[in-house]
Amino acid sequence: MWINNGRTDSASGQVIEVTDPATEEVLDTVPAGTAEDVERAVAAARAAFPAWRQTIAVERAQMLHQAAAKMRDHFDELVRLLTLEEGKPVPENKEEIDWSLNTLDYYAELGRHIRGRVIPSPAVGQLSLVLKEPYGVVGCIVPWNYPILLLMWKLAPALAAGNTVVVKPSTLTPLTTLRMVEVAFGHFPPGVVNVITGRGEEVGDALVTHPDVPVIAFTGSTAVGQHIARLTASQMKKLHLELGGKDPFVLADDAPLEVAVEALAYAALINAGQVCTSTERVYVPRSMLPRFAEALAERVSRLRLGPGIEPTTDIGPMIGEPYRARVEEHVAEAVARGARVLVGGRRPPHLEHGFFYEPTVLVDVDHSMRIMREETFGPTIPIMAYDTFDQAIALANDTDYGLGACLYTHDARKVRRFYEEVRAGTIWINDPLTDNYAGPFGGMKMSGTGRELGEEGLEEFWQTKHVHWDIEGGVKEYWYPYGQN
Ligand code: NAD
Repeated sequence: MWINNGRTDSASGQVIEVTDPATEEVLDTVPAGTAEDVERAVAAARAAFPAWRQTIAVERAQMLHQAAAKMRDHFDELVRLLTLEEGKPVPENKEEIDWSLNTLDYYAELGRHIRGRVIPSPAVGQLSLVLKEPYGVVGCIVPWNYPILLLMWKLAPALAAGNTVVVKPSTLTPLTTLRMVEVAFGHFPPGVVNVITGRGEEVGDALVTHPDVPVIAFTGSTAVGQHIARLTASQMKKLHLELGGKDPFVLADDAPLEVAVEALAYAALINAGQVCTSTERVYVPRSMLPRFAEALAERVSRLRLGPGIEPTTDIGPMIGEPYRARVEEHVAEAVARGARVLVGGRRPPHLEHGFFYEPTVLVDVDHSMRIMREETFGPTIPIMAYDTFDQAIALANDTDYGLGACLYTHDARKVRRFYEEVRAGTIWINDPLTDNYAGPFGGMKMSGTGRELGEEGLEEFWQTKHVHWDIEGGVKEYWYPYGQN
């Protein structure tokens, strides 16, 4: 673990094994932290807060830029470690590290740009300020699918806003986080950035309920997000929850078929479909469906499965057995209810080890099936026919989630209807899954609260104070006694 700028073991003496999902071999171990370790990390972050809060914004910006530069210096090492523990192919991990360090540079600048605003006062001779203040210690809890990127979307703005931080990575992917913090944040004052490793129910809960941690920034499943909300209800904490999704991908009848096939393969299968904004449901005009599904199945059948570290791999393993088992359950249930598998639908026979699952295209699906309702979080592409665009929009909205949604068309009227009527935090037209540092990212409905990236992503880590100042401070005519005039 990492507390007060030093590596440390857990008081428990216990460890957790970290496995390479492509080989099922143990890569390394990390301490199995306890509530006692959380106590140490929070105490360090709390002690560091007053001085960090007072550090001038330009100095904080310099330190954040230095952290980005140090990540650049260790780029290949971080990419390799991330590939081994998370499983996705090297190009995707290069992108993750690149995005992460650029996020540091982005918030370094944004954090020194603004600290509030001056507003018109109710009377002459007064000054009214809206001040933005850090909260104190922020607890960051992150999942395994983009462990560095999703951490940086919290860490960079939280630090730029003047907070100190305790990070809890997933037990499945703690290694790159620890190494990244060691190489990139060692020049920060001790206690500003701390990492504790351990299980959710042990260190996660202890961090979430700690009275000295007023903010929890969480990315993960809706079930754990709800658990955190329940646990903290009596403490009135600021919760920033980025949760699950069931993103739709809609083809309009003018969509260019060849481009849409390529786009969909990418949107549904990047990181073996384990992206919160993975396409999980596809809607195609009935007349186009046979041709489109056949072209997609042909395209998908040519993708190469293998360990992420191999240069010829397009799709790596899933992260672990329970995750693959859920995909298998969703496919089996859909087939039992009448769905047809056009390609995939099984573990690849040629890969003996690793949590691999073949990319799978299904047709004849409907909304009674779990694969169209629950988060599958794997390499599946279920395709359903629609008759009118009204129906396509209704189907896109027929979900508890609201993270992202994608439309393929050049019809401006359909574009406008889609972005106005579909309830999702991000709408992609003709370019799925593209993020933007300046563009806020987050969910509607059961996909969560709060936003990351952009100005909104910095605001999440500030609380607002209104200062009203009457400079002369004379007696006011509207005070007691009443009825004089
Ligand atoms: P998860 O909810 O199981 O775990 C997320 C983190 O929470 C991990 O660090 C875990 O150890 C911790 N945790 C587990 N139980 C806890 C508890 N009782 N108290 C406190 N912390 C606890 O999710 P996962 O399997 O790691 O990640 C996949 C999920 O994350 C999917 O649902 C996916 O949609 C979601 N996700 C959402 C976004 C987004 O931005 N909305 C991005 C990526 C992933």
